[in-house]
Order: sequence, then C-alpha cells, then structure tokens
Amino acid sequence: PKVSPFLEPGPYTRANSLAILQLSRDNLQPVYLQPLSGDHDGYAEGAVVNTRYGSFPHSTMIGIPWGSQIRASKVDTGSRGRKRKRIAGDEATAGQPETPGSNENDAETESASRPDAASDSKKGLGEATGFIHILPPIPEIWTMSLPHRTQVVYTPDYSYVLHRLRARPGAVIIEAGAGSGSFTHAAARAIYNGYPTRAAKRKGKVISFEYHEQRYHKMKKELSDHGLEGIVHLTHRDVYKDGFLVDGKSPEADAIFLDLPAPWDALRHLSRRKPPQQSSSLSDDDGANNTDQQIKEDDSQWVSALNPKKSAYICTFSPCIEQVTKTVSALRRLGWVDIDMVEIANRKIHTVRDRVGLHLPIDRGVNCSPKDVEEAMAKLTEIEDRFREHSRPKGTGDDMDLADDEPATNGAGAMVDGGDVDGEVVPSTQAWMDGRLVTRGEPEIKTHTSYLVFAILPREWTEEDEAAAAAKYPCGA
Ligand code: SAM
Repeated sequence: PKVSPFLEPGPYTRANSLAILQLSRDNLQPVYLQPLSGDHDGYAEGAVVNTRYGSFPHSTMIGIPWGSQIRASKVDTGSRGRKRKRIAGDEATAGQPETPGSNENDAETESASRPDAASDSKKGLGEATGFIHILPPIPEIWTMSLPHRTQVVYTPDYSYVLHRLRARPGAVIIEAGAGSGSFTHAAARAIYNGYPTRAAKRKGKVISFEYHEQRYHKMKKELSDHGLEGIVHLTHRDVYKDGFLVDGKSPEADAIFLDLPAPWDALRHLSRRKPPQQSSSLSDDDGANNTDQQIKEDDSQWVSALNPKKSAYICTFSPCIEQVTKTVSALRRLGWVDIDMVEIANRKIHTVRDRVGLHLPIDRGVNCSPKDVEEAMAKLTEIEDRFREHSRPKGTGDDMDLADDEPATNGAGAMVDGGDVDGEVVPSTQAWMDGRLVTRGEPEIKTHTSYLVFAILPREWTEEDEAAAAAKYPCGA
C-alpha cells in the first residue's frame, strides 16, 4: 500500500507524492510531483510549476531533502511546445495538471517582499528568476494550503482538541462532518501507529462521516491521493438520522469530534445503551422524522458505536453559544459528565532580536531630532553596560536575570513602543552586539473560531466486569 507522506514523509521528496511549495511565508501551493515520463504538456523538462518567481520543473524537486530551497530554472518548451497563456498572478498553469489548490490571493503581495521577483513580470516565461522552498505535507501546513470546501478547523483548535480527546497511536476517533478534511489529517497522524509501539495493540482509525455528496467524493479522492485510505474510513451519511456504525458494526470509538450545525441531534447515537425515546426533547427536529435504525430496533439489538472497555471522550465545535447550550443540555441528559467549554484565543508572539542599530527611534524616520539621537545613545550605553554585566561568567557575582529585572519596554522605541509588550527578555550569553531577544504579542485576538464543548462518558461496569476484577485483584488475598 501507498505510504502516506503525511504519516511517513521520510527525509526526501518523492515522485508521485504530495509536496507543498512555499512561495512566500503565507503563500503555499500543494503539488503532486510528477516524474519525467509520458506527456509533459510541451515542456522538455516534464511538468513545470510556473510562478511569479520563475518556473520550477518537477524534475528539479524530486528526491531532494524536505525544506530545500529551489532555484528557478530556464525551461525548455521543447519541440512540441504549444502556445500557452500566462495569466498574471496565476501560480499554476497547464504544466501542472493536478494542482489541488492554491492561495492565489497572496500572489500580488509577493513582489514587494522579494526583490528578486520584482522584475519577474517583465521577463518572459521560462526565465530563471527567484526561488521557492519545498515542504513536507504535515497536517499543519496542509491546513494552511488545502482547498477550502467548508469552514475548517485550524491548528490552534485541533491541537488542543486532539490533546483533550486523548488521541494517541491506536485510538479510534469518530469525526463528523469531514468537510474539507483539515481536522481529519491532524487526527489521522495522531492515531497512526504504523511505527511499532508496544502500547498500541489495535490499529488507530479515524471514522469519518460526510453527508454532502460532492464533498464526500472530493474527500474520498483526497484520502486516496494522500495514502490515508487505510487510516481514515469515510462514509457518506447523515449522522443525525443514521448514526455512526460502520457496516452495521460498532467502530468501538474511544473519542468523538463533532463539527456539525446541530451536534445535539447526533448525540443520541453515541450512548452506551439505546437512549429513551425522547428524541424530540433532545432535538429541535420533530422526533417522528427520525428514521434511525438504531432507535427502531429493540434494546437487545441496539449497538453502541463506543468502545465498551473505555471511557469515551467527546468534543463538539460550534460557533454560537446557543448551540453550546443545546449541546450541553443533551449531553447532561445522556449521562455525559465533566462537561466544560473552552474557547481557544490564539495570539501570535512576534520575536525579534533587538539589534543595537535599532535603538534609534526609527519609527519617527527622518523627523528624528538631535535630542532623540542623544536619548537613544544614552539608552544604548545603558543597555551596553547591562549586557556587559550580564555577560560576566556565571558565579563571578550576582547573576542578573534580565527576564525579571527588565522593564516592560526596553527603550528601543521602534521595537516596543506603544505595543502590548510581553516584555520577556531572554538573556543572551553572547556578546552584547548580538542584541537581545524581545517578544511582543499581538495586541488583539482577531478571530473567534468556535466554542469547544468537552465531556466524558464513563465506561459501563457490569456484574461480569466486577466479578472479573474481583477474581483478578482479590481483596485481602
Ligand atoms: N471539520 C471540518 C474540517 O476541519 O475541514 C469542517 C467541517 S464543516 C464545518 C461541517 C461539515 O459537516 C460540512 O461539510 C457538512 O456537509 C457536514 N454535515 C452537516 N450535517 C451533517 C450530517 N447530518 N451528517 C454528516 N455530515 C454533516
């Protein structure tokens, strides 16, 4: 079976496998690297990715270490060279038949930040200009570059969710709906136990559901292209109606992640026993509309989708507090415990090395007065003294901990003025000329993604379990 580059990327890029081209910091483009064979659409070099930074034949990007910088090539359009149109700002052209998606919006902004590319538009297609980097398709990078079919779950949320769900090699996680597959990829890596581990006895799986037919088919193809078919089991289904069994059998899930408009409608399928016939009180829908097989059958035939031997961990992901209230209410009624809600407030921390040259108040530019310069120089001398003091070998006096002693601002107007400064200064043991590391947090949290509701459903404990436990650990024996 195909080895997934998401699970085992290996040290080098591979032919016929996914790679992510990083055109600039936030401009990432997924591409399937095609070896030199068959129809190359006119290029002697085979498939070529054309960008505003130049042309990059796939053949120059195969079998090289991940993270490599790739210089643009002069491409030979070959004898069969057809006429092709170059669309301004277009990142992928006919030379790259299978491009899953691109962040075309960033294209315009790049020339300013990349001097080597600024004159690119004046040059003809095929001339070598700039460079790009090639990155492995880890879930975090995939989330930034994937073709959006829906709202997606981003890394700050899914990393916390997977931690709270205790996702680990060998775990089985139910997910609905699959949407664009952002969470799916992260979950697949978390539960993957392809590498032999002593702890994991069964194969980790993501049991995923999506009821939108087109999304289901796109996702199915993506899973196959990414070599994840053996890890992610995707079913086309409305989970409100038809629950979470796979081919009528229990997936024995350890954890559940619901990114659905009405998670409370799916919860009744996630019990240990057939819940009482009160679906109308658990849902806004008319209970009579539910044609669910599990509900119709009698108790003895009812199959739980949960692992009977372990507590189940759930997370629901909802943008509105009203949805949270309904979900929490349904969870309580169905016996879930330890219910709590979390909102991830992600904030970027900007870290810079506070170079000596930057101590001039450059934020005032040419309006910098002699007094400004004088003040800056005085500050500089003061900082220099402190660093000298700090650079003294340890044990020669009281070692100064700058992180504690430093004020919130460091006097370097350009770096810290007026911002929400965390003020954490990491002491450097190098010469003062190397500057200090200064961190600054974004002043505001810009986005609200969703509220995360967590809960636990304890495992069932039967008379048989008690007898087995008593036999195994006899009291007073
Ligand atoms: N978590 C996904 C990701 O990270 O890419 C995004 C999920 S998207 C917000 C919600 C998805 O749930 C949509 O694709 C929608 O079609 C699907 N969905 C909604 N109701 C459903 C249902 N009753 N059964 C299965 N899928 C459903």
